[in-house]
Amino acid sequence: MPALDPSIITKLEVFRLPPRWLFVRVETEDGLVGWGEGTLEGHTEAVEGAFDALRDQFVGWDADKIQDIWQHGYRSKFYRGGPVLMSALSGLDIALWDIKGKKLGVPVWQLLGGKVRDRVKVYGWIGGDTPEDVVRGAEVRKEQGFTAVKMNGTGSVDWVDSPSVLGDTVDRVKAVRALGLDVGVDFHGRVHKGMAKQLARSLEPFSPLFIEEPLLPTQPDEIADLSRMVSIPIALGERLYTRTDYRPYLERRAIDIAQPDVAHCGGISELHRLASYTETYDVALAPHSPIGPIALAACIQVDLTAPNFVIQEMSWQIHYNQGADLFTYLKDSSVFEIQQGYIRAPNGKYSPLLSLCLSHPSYAGPGLGIEINEELVRETAIRHQGEKPWRNDIFHGPDGAFREW
Ligand SMILES: [Mg+2]
Repeated sequence: MPALDPSIITKLEVFRLPPRWLFVRVETEDGLVGWGEGTLEGHTEAVEGAFDALRDQFVGWDADKIQDIWQHGYRSKFYRGGPVLMSALSGLDIALWDIKGKKLGVPVWQLLGGKVRDRVKVYGWIGGDTPEDVVRGAEVRKEQGFTAVKMNGTGSVDWVDSPSVLGDTVDRVKAVRALGLDVGVDFHGRVHKGMAKQLARSLEPFSPLFIEEPLLPTQPDEIADLSRMVSIPIALGERLYTRTDYRPYLERRAIDIAQPDVAHCGGISELHRLASYTETYDVALAPHSPIGPIALAACIQVDLTAPNFVIQEMSWQIHYNQGADLFTYLKDSSVFEIQQGYIRAPNGKYSPLLSLCLSHPSYAGPGLGIEINEELVRETAIRHQGEKPWRNDIFHGPDGAFREW
């Protein structure tokens, strides 16, 4: 079989979009277009700057050389890694996989070696900073077809806080479990060591799917201690970038579930490698994705191929949506239709006729399996030009001291 003709990158664009997303569009001289997502909530301008450097470096390169571009993007500068540079590289990497799939007419999961499952289990976010969030959010998710949800364990919490915090968290978890839903509890790094062990112990009787970021991701030894203390699986990883960052958590046997974010960890390339790397430690994979549709589509492609995959985060009709949600920029959102807690694998084929006759997804095409409404993306980006990007809240205690968000 003859070698493929190169697909030379001619254009690399980024679009800042509500609610807090950064889409990447890569075009090649043979007319292929790939989409990626480099959303890094709270640091949008910094990632845009990092993209400027990637544009300077990679326009003129062959888009087929995904791994060569990844290596150069990661290693060719003296300083490397971290959220900003890795989010920019992630956006580019995802777009290159989309291009390669479209060029060859296959979904990305085919390029990664084929599926090991036909459906991907998903969970939805329900908030949890306030008690009223939780039950209302869980009921909505259940109606949407989810069988599992994730909630924040606590709101703002002091280094060592009142025991009433424990009781409030347990009540909220019990209320969600009473609806027949499985629930992951995200401590969000808000809880410090003294409270974390109490909180984890108090949740044990209610069997959460996992507790997430029980401590900040700078504490591998302390998280490992906690892991030996409680029976609930420990999940962590949205704030880790590349295999190197995961290494201390795996070597210390600190985590049971790895949660890399495809838009921060190094894209589809590194998420796929992380799946294999974590598997060797008997650690499950549950990619983090409270962001946009391109990141979710990229995760699903890897989830389908990873034997240790367990569940995928999916943020739908999110609380900070600012007029846009997961489906806004998609031409056909039925590719993410949830049936009894699962999304089915995109088949890589266009089937508009089937769509009309059988209400099947009309588009689950090659590459990432989604079709972006480019006109809306361009128009929205222009309309919001000059606006300040999304920022997270800042928590202070009653004494005025800073608390983790
Ligand atoms: Mg989290």
